[in-house]
Parts: sequence; structure tokens; C-alpha cells
Amino acid sequence: MLILFSDTFDPSLPGKLQKFGETTEDAARLPDADVILIRSKTKATKEFLEKAKNLKLIIRGGVGLDNVDAAYAKSRGIIVKNTPEASSVAVAELAVAMMIASCNRLIDAHNSMREGKWLKKEIKRTELFQKTLGLIGAGRIGTEVAKRAAAFGMRVVAYDPLVKSSPSMEILRSVDEVLAAADYISLHVPLTDETKGMINKAAIAKMKKGVVIVNTARGKAVVEEDVAAALASGQIGTYCSDVFYQEPPEGSPLLKAPNVILAPHIGASSKENLLRIGVQVEQLIGDFSKGKLK
Ligand code: NAD
Repeated sequence: MLILFSDTFDPSLPGKLQKFGETTEDAARLPDADVILIRSKTKATKEFLEKAKNLKLIIRGGVGLDNVDAAYAKSRGIIVKNTPEASSVAVAELAVAMMIASCNRLIDAHNSMREGKWLKKEIKRTELFQKTLGLIGAGRIGTEVAKRAAAFGMRVVAYDPLVKSSPSMEILRSVDEVLAAADYISLHVPLTDETKGMINKAAIAKMKKGVVIVNTARGKAVVEEDVAAALASGQIGTYCSDVFYQEPPEGSPLLKAPNVILAPHIGASSKENLLRIGVQVEQLIGDFSKGKLK
């Protein structure tokens, strides 16, 4: 069995998979690979998969499958798997870290110190305590964020069409109710026809002035031009984002917008998560080698 690493995984993983066959990072061997391992960088489109003539299994180390043409893979009988449980804590910690960095103005404080300034009076902090966090999407990651926000004394409300009640948050009946109630909004939805561009000019107008938005879900869930305009007008107080319409976000209006906290899609990249993903990948390939994977 030839296992092709098409994206970056924990460095210990190739060694652990050698019991199943040969491992390689050589992209030129795509036509011979039985198994391809990807994260978010590789786009497993029809054109990509057509070159993988020997492919039987594709594993996406991560949550969404929006970078895999699953319909085409199915038509070829290629099994498609992901590791949805592994990343929840890693992404939730980044979302909460962004909220904490925003209300404490950590980026401004740090940058001003580096510039030799002492802005003790100018840097005005606020607290998360007793603020309302609105979650859009109350699945695995949303739930982990809710638990952490509760520890800060936040009220947590959420909208999710599939979740009617939760011990970790108050479920509201519509997105609009969440938009109106929240001081902080955190997105935890998959990219679908419904969620694409859901944070647009009309949605932003329904939010409280100065709202903080955290996006660790998908860049295309927001309309970046509308977010940049609302940052300039002050309707959005801070926009924190790990994900972008295009990655890297060349030419994105967010790169020049005021009051942003940006990260290069590192939500799932904690050391611990890469190890958890590796354990799940090893298990999946083990099952596959025994003919147990469907
Ligand atoms: P999940 O499937 O457990 O939860 C997603 C929830 O969103 C579901 O409960 C679903 O019902 C809900 N939902 C779908 N459409 C909705 C809508 N229109 N409005 C409100 N809720 C809606 O997934 P998860 O593990 O919590 O992951 C959520 C997303 O986070 C992933 O789909 C992925 O896009 C993103 N993610 C990002 C990173 C990163 O590195 N930044 C890593 C992992 C996942």
C-alpha cells in the first residue's frame, strides 16, 4: 500500500504508518497512491482525483469535507473519511483566545510596547464577564466554546437548526435573535449554500453596534467587503478571523481594515490536535487494511 502525505501532519505519523506499507511526501507519486492524506491545503477536486488513478481511500485530517469532491470520489468507489471529533478543543481554544485578546486589547498593547510607547491610560480594556456570546452553530466546536465562555461568566445563546436544547447554552429560535442579543458572535457552521455569505451587510445591521465577531469556521461564511465596511464605520468593533475567502487572503479588504485580529488558519494546528488526528488516521488505515472500512 502506498500512502501519500499531501499536506502536513504530525511528524511522527509517517513512521507509525509504515507497518501498513510505504509512505511518501512526493506529489509526483499521486498516480500510484492507494491512500492520500490531506488537511485543508490540498483541494481534492475532480481534476486532482482524476490523476490519482490507483486511489482507494482519501482521509481528510480535520472536520469539513468542503475541499473534497466527495460525489466524484463516490462515483469512483473511493472511500472518503475525515476526523471530525479530533479538532473541537483546539478550535474552541483559539476562538476563546481571540475573544480574550480582543476585550483586553492585547495586540494593541503588545504592538505599542514594541514601538516604545506606554499607553497605560489610552488602552481601555473591557471584560467578558456578564457579556452575551451568540453562537451560530451549536455542534461540537460551538459546544466547547460555550463551556469555556460559561467559565468566564458569559451568557451563551445560540442558533442551530438541528439543536433544540443544550445544557451548555440557551437555544434561540432564529439567527436574527442571536444577532440582536450578542455582544460577541462566534461562527461554528459548516460551509453550505445556506451559510455562505450569511454574515453580510443585512445581517451586520441587525447586530449591536461595536459587536465582536469571531470566525474560526469558514472564510466564505462572511462577505469580507461588508465586514471591512462595518469595521470602518464602527458597527463591528472587532473582527477576529482564522479563515478567509481565499487562503492566503491576497487582496482581502480585511488585511487593511481597522480592528482586526487575524490568524493564518491555525485553528486545528495545535500540537495535541495533530497527535489526535494522527491516532484517528492510524485507526482508519488499520481498518482499511483489514477491509473493515466502508
Ligand atoms: P459540527 O458538525 O459538529 O457542528 C456544526 C453545526 O452547525 C451543526 O450542529 C449544524 O446543525 C450547524 N449548522 C448548519 N447550518 C447552520 C445554519 N445555517 N445556522 C446555524 N447552524 C447551522 O461541526 P464542528 O466540528 O463544530 O465544526 C464546525 C465548523 O468549524 C466546520 O464545519 C469547519 O468549517 C470549521 N472548522 C474550522 C477549523 C479551523 O482550523 N479554523 C477546524 C475545524 C473545523
